[in-house]
Amino acid sequence: MSYVIHGYRPEKLFRYFEDLAAIPHGSGNESAVADWLEGFARERSLDCVRDEWNNVLIRLPASEGREEEPALLLQGHTDMVCEKNRDTVHDFTKDGLKLAVCDGWLHAEGTTLGGDDGIAVATMMTILDGGIASHPAIECLFTVAEETGLIGAGNFDYSLLRARRMINLDNEELGILIAGCAGGIRSEISLPINTVPCALSRVEIQVKGLCGGHSGGCIHMGRANANKLMARILLALHGAHAFRLVSVEGGSKDNAIPRECRAVIATDAVEESLAFLAAYEKTVAAELGEEDRAFHLETAVSSATATDRAMDTLATSRMLAFLSSVQDGVMAMSHDVPGLVEYSRNLGVVSMDTELCRLNCVVSTRSAIEAQIDASVAQLDALASMLGGKTRHHSRYPGWNYEKDSAIREKYLESYRRVMGKDVEVTIIHAGLECGIIKNHLPDMDAISVGPDMQGIHSPDERMDLASCEKFWQILVSEIEG
Ligand SMILES: [Zn+2]
Repeated sequence: MSYVIHGYRPEKLFRYFEDLAAIPHGSGNESAVADWLEGFARERSLDCVRDEWNNVLIRLPASEGREEEPALLLQGHTDMVCEKNRDTVHDFTKDGLKLAVCDGWLHAEGTTLGGDDGIAVATMMTILDGGIASHPAIECLFTVAEETGLIGAGNFDYSLLRARRMINLDNEELGILIAGCAGGIRSEISLPINTVPCALSRVEIQVKGLCGGHSGGCIHMGRANANKLMARILLALHGAHAFRLVSVEGGSKDNAIPRECRAVIATDAVEESLAFLAAYEKTVAAELGEEDRAFHLETAVSSATATDRAMDTLATSRMLAFLSSVQDGVMAMSHDVPGLVEYSRNLGVVSMDTELCRLNCVVSTRSAIEAQIDASVAQLDALASMLGGKTRHHSRYPGWNYEKDSAIREKYLESYRRVMGKDVEVTIIHAGLECGIIKNHLPDMDAISVGPDMQGIHSPDERMDLASCEKFWQILVSEIEG
């Protein structure tokens, strides 16, 4: 194998990263990596447990003289998000990534890099391979399917762990230490719609050009949600020139703020509607932030025949009422931590099932407080049942409450200062982390989440700063040896 990373230390760490990149390891496809890890442990006579989910736990005994110290857990996920550019030919189930270094940043050509969380895998392997001379007993936990709902961490048998202090290696900023995170749930809402034959002209309306972003990390940035914006525009138009809704569809992921939404209406006031939309587009554009400046509406008119269908007037008003009133965005800010979002929702996906005559929505709720998640569930249930709909809530994961006293955090602050000559910033994030699940199983676990600098994760623009990986390694050495 020919390697592309040169000149960074420890060499082993970067070799392991490149070896991992050669093995396909998208979420749900982690068995080859689990095989590889098992073989790695066997060759080094390390104790290894692999479960039916392909989570792998490898234990490293303490070095001489440190047997009495409490064990330390290191943890990260083996799966990666598989995204590629439209013109890139790549099969994530078969092909290895094509790595390249540009100005000190590592990326994969045309695809996601999997620095999230390949760096954790490579770091743990380097440590298990004797990379740090003096250390307490170390448990390395490699989990699966983090990116698709923290599934590996959710199903692991935590009675296998001895450690009660842990370092999660799934953070993408060297200068930031995460010390708490939100929990969340996914809600699917399915509403019945009655359709009738309708030969009125069709107007297709598309909301385009919005910035979007992660529904946890970006929810406080004031970026417009395409589904909510469409609902508002349709409701305003309906007030001026009543129409029948034919369809509305927007967004593709519950955890991404939707950037585009498409609706089709049936109307006998085509020209008036187009004029209204052109004016309303300007009203909305004037309100939006700089990041959403590419916002615009695209419209197209077509004809329909007597057999084409549209929602009846009741279904139209119900769907408009639902979409425009279901709460979205920041719902509460933390009283304790300035600037931290405590409770939020994202109406991530709206889709139509024309065969079953239903409008389906997916909402992601996040909160640091379990009772708020319960409240969100109850509210969505109430709203759906009023419209004769059904809900299904799933993939709930617990939050991780910030602990005032944390020995591992204090120690990392010192190690960081020693290596970097400045302080690391301690923060709490409004997104899910495996630490939340682990702490839910082992409440006395003292945890932090750290990592090197990465940008553009979950997109083909993902890149990882190699010099920061080197620094990150030095901090961990200082943390574990000291
Ligand atoms: Zn990750």
